Amino acid sequence: MSQSNSQKITHKLARKELIDMVPYQSARRLQAGNGAFNDKTWLNANEASGTGEYQVSSDCINRYPDFQPDNLLDGYSAYCQLPKTQVLATRGADEGIELLIRTFCTAYQDNIVICPPTYGMYAISAENHGAGINRVPLINNELDLDGLAKQVGQAKIVFLCSPGNPTGNLLPHTQIKQALELFKDNAIVVVDEAYIEFDAQQSVSSWLGEYDNLVVLRTLSKAFALAGLRCGFTLASEAIIIMMSKVIAPYPISAPVAEIASKALTTDGLAVMNQRVNEVQEIRQSLINWLKQQVWCQQVFKSDANFVLFKTDKKDEIFSLLSKQDILIRDQSKQMQLENCLRISIGSEQEIETLKETITQYFN
Ligand SMILES: *Cc1c(COP(=O)(O)O)cnc(C)c1O
Repeated sequence: MSQSNSQKITHKLARKELIDMVPYQSARRLQAGNGAFNDKTWLNANEASGTGEYQVSSDCINRYPDFQPDNLLDGYSAYCQLPKTQVLATRGADEGIELLIRTFCTAYQDNIVICPPTYGMYAISAENHGAGINRVPLINNELDLDGLAKQVGQAKIVFLCSPGNPTGNLLPHTQIKQALELFKDNAIVVVDEAYIEFDAQQSVSSWLGEYDNLVVLRTLSKAFALAGLRCGFTLASEAIIIMMSKVIAPYPISAPVAEIASKALTTDGLAVMNQRVNEVQEIRQSLINWLKQQVWCQQVFKSDANFVLFKTDKKDEIFSLLSKQDILIRDQSKQMQLENCLRISIGSEQEIETLKETITQYFN
C-alpha cells in the first residue's frame, strides 16, 4: 500500500526517462559480495586478487577534508609526471566520466561518441544526464576513423578506451592522434587508461602539452588493487580541470581514502604495484596459451590488460559450470560484435589454475 503510494508520487515527480532506465549492470550488482569475498573466486570485475594492508588513522575525521588533499595530489602528480593543476582526484574513474559529461554536454542538446564494444559507463552516464549517444563501432578492435570523421561537429566528447574493456587491446597511437586532430576544435577526446599500468609505456598522458582537447582517465581500482577505495584521476589541461572543479562535489575525496591512496603512491607502494603487474602479465600469458589449445575456444583476443576475452561455442556451459563451482567470470556476449564471448579477470595463479582444472574436468 505505502509502497505503491510512494511509487506513485516518485514516478509522478521523477524525470520521465529514469522510470524505465536500467542502471549499470556492474559485476557487483549482478552478483553481490555481501562482505564475504572469500567464499567465491571473483574473476568477473577485473580487480586485483590481493591487496596490501593499509592502516588508517582517524585523526581529524571531525573536519571536512581538503577539496583535493595535498598528500594524494602530490603522490599522483609525481607518479603521472604532471603538475597538480592538471590532476583532479575523483571517486573512481567513473566519476570522471560523469563529470566530463556534465561539464561539456548540455542536456537534451549535446552528444557523446562511443566506440563499441566498450566500457558501459559512458553510455549510462550520458543517458542519465540526457546527453545523446552516437556509436562508431570498432573495426577489428581498432578505431573506425572514417566513421569518427563523420562525427566532427556532431558531438562534444569522444570516449576512447585504451586498453579497451572488454576487448583488452591498446589502440594504436597513430589512431588516437588522428582522432585528436579530427576533433581538435570541437570535441574533447577522452582516453580511458584504466588499465594502462599493464603497459605503462603506452600512456598518452605526455601528449597533454600538445593537445588541448585531450583528457586522460586513470584509476587505482585495477593495477593498484584498490577498487574498494573508489579513487580515480582525471588528467587534462588546467582549464579543463578548473571547469570540472565547478561540477564535482565539494568534498569528493574522504580523508581515509586520501590517506590510503597516498600510501599506495609512495615508492614502496609503487614497487608493490609494479610487482603485481609483472605477475599478472605472466599469469595472463599462460592463460592465453592454454585457451588457444582448447578445442572449444574459437578466438582469444589480444590483451594489454589484466583480463582475457575469448570466444567459445560453449559459452553457456562454461559460464554455468564455473558459477556452480563459485568461480565467477563475465559474460560479454550481449555486447556488439562479441557474440559468444566471455571475459576472465586475471586473478591469482591458484585461482586461474582452479578455473582451468574445473573446465578441463568437465570436458574430459
Ligand atoms: C574499471 C573501469 C573504470 C572505472 O574505474 P573506477 O575507478 O573503479 O570507477 C573506468 N573505465 C574502464 C575502462 C574500466 O574498466
